[in-house]
Amino acid sequence: MKKLQAVKGMNDLLPADSPYWQYLEATITDVVQGYGFQEIRFPILEATELFKRSIGEVTDIVEKEMYTFLDRNDESVTLRPEGTASCVRACEQHQLLYNRGTIAQKLWYMGPMFRYEKPQKGRLRQFHQIGVEAYGIASADADAELLIMTARLWKTLGIDDAVELQINSLGTNEARANFRAALVDFLSANEAKLDEDSQRRLATNPLRILDSKDADTQALLADAPDLADFLDDESREHFALLQRYLTAAGVKFTVNTRLVRGLDYYSRTVFEWVTNRLGAQGTVCAGGRYDGLVAQLGGQNTPAVGFAMGLERLVLLVQELNAFPKDISRAADVYLLALGNVIPEAFALTEQLREQAPHLRVQMNTGAGSFKSQMKKAERSGADVVLILGEDEASAGEVTVKYLRSDEPQQTIQQQQINQIFV
Ligand code: ATP
Ligand code: MG
Repeated sequence: MKKLQAVKGMNDLLPADSPYWQYLEATITDVVQGYGFQEIRFPILEATELFKRSIGEVTDIVEKEMYTFLDRNDESVTLRPEGTASCVRACEQHQLLYNRGTIAQKLWYMGPMFRYEKPQKGRLRQFHQIGVEAYGIASADADAELLIMTARLWKTLGIDDAVELQINSLGTNEARANFRAALVDFLSANEAKLDEDSQRRLATNPLRILDSKDADTQALLADAPDLADFLDDESREHFALLQRYLTAAGVKFTVNTRLVRGLDYYSRTVFEWVTNRLGAQGTVCAGGRYDGLVAQLGGQNTPAVGFAMGLERLVLLVQELNAFPKDISRAADVYLLALGNVIPEAFALTEQLREQAPHLRVQMNTGAGSFKSQMKKAERSGADVVLILGEDEASAGEVTVKYLRSDEPQQTIQQQQINQIFV
């Protein structure tokens, strides 16, 4: 029989690694909620139409990366490749954007996303994002707040030296259309020098050619028209303000006028946080402003700005930089050996300890075993304190405390005193 395996590009998260994820998720949650963002959850499966209408028909995602299939009622559904479209859909469906007097909503979400890509380090078919979206604010302070918040997150995680912020402005639709025309003129005259993908994109999505990884195409692009020269005055002012706010908040950035994003819905600000510590998959967080999307999906005109970060890449980066807290992945701080006929007393004692020191990870040995085999399990748990409860200790109301990682001598104490050891 063929061995059952997970679907290619979709990873299991094993117990040895889950503490890293939990730590990242908790830290990010704390930071974004500290800026007033509230969590929203939406389904993993959506009508295919949603992504076609938002991300854009001729983007990589919609053209070749979506997990799309017919359900049993022949409706076309898609495993979400990103969160923004669903977020807008949910906000519209529940009228979250207009019924609060002021049009403002600050939301975040977290969960798996699905894209049929070539799996490699930092690029999976099921991957995980934390996304943040701010609705209703057109001015550049909303853009700046997101980036300042992200900078704080990097600092909290201790990885701020390893990430760099790149920003750009795509201008209004009109500015972008003018630039696009100039770019197509230039590239059409040099079509033969373009890589195959870019030749195809020339007709469908020419801005994406700026993003090409092909060296010859990149060389050619050095002489291409510059988006910055096409910006309308308002976008220019918006972009200047963003830079001023970032500077005031001490957030360093570089302007990269070649930065465009892979999704169609962006306007004005786009940005990426990149690292050179992860090889080719260097973008850990990306986003921008998408003032047109809500209306495009049938809602009222609502400015919006947001980003998503890739958790796989972040875990890799924090690991690479050794920035996870020590001992994060151990299963227990305290391990109790229950030796002989002491199970009732062992339960009573471990429950007492959990009550008095709720922050402790307390494991009680179950399934009996010799001193030696229980000790082995204690060591494997990562605990640095072992409690030994034998029949003599139990009947005297005592317990023996043994330190696995320090020279402190073993001692036998009254059970009532146990909390004194851990506070
Ligand atoms: P890339 O250029 O790396 O394909 P993207 O532009 O497609 O990225 P977005 O759609 O902006 O990425 O998603 C935001 C973030 O989600 C990325 O910066 C990255 O950190 C992460 N991400 C995107 N696709 C994947 C994937 N297949 N596997 C792991 N992480 C991903
Ligand atoms: Mg991609």
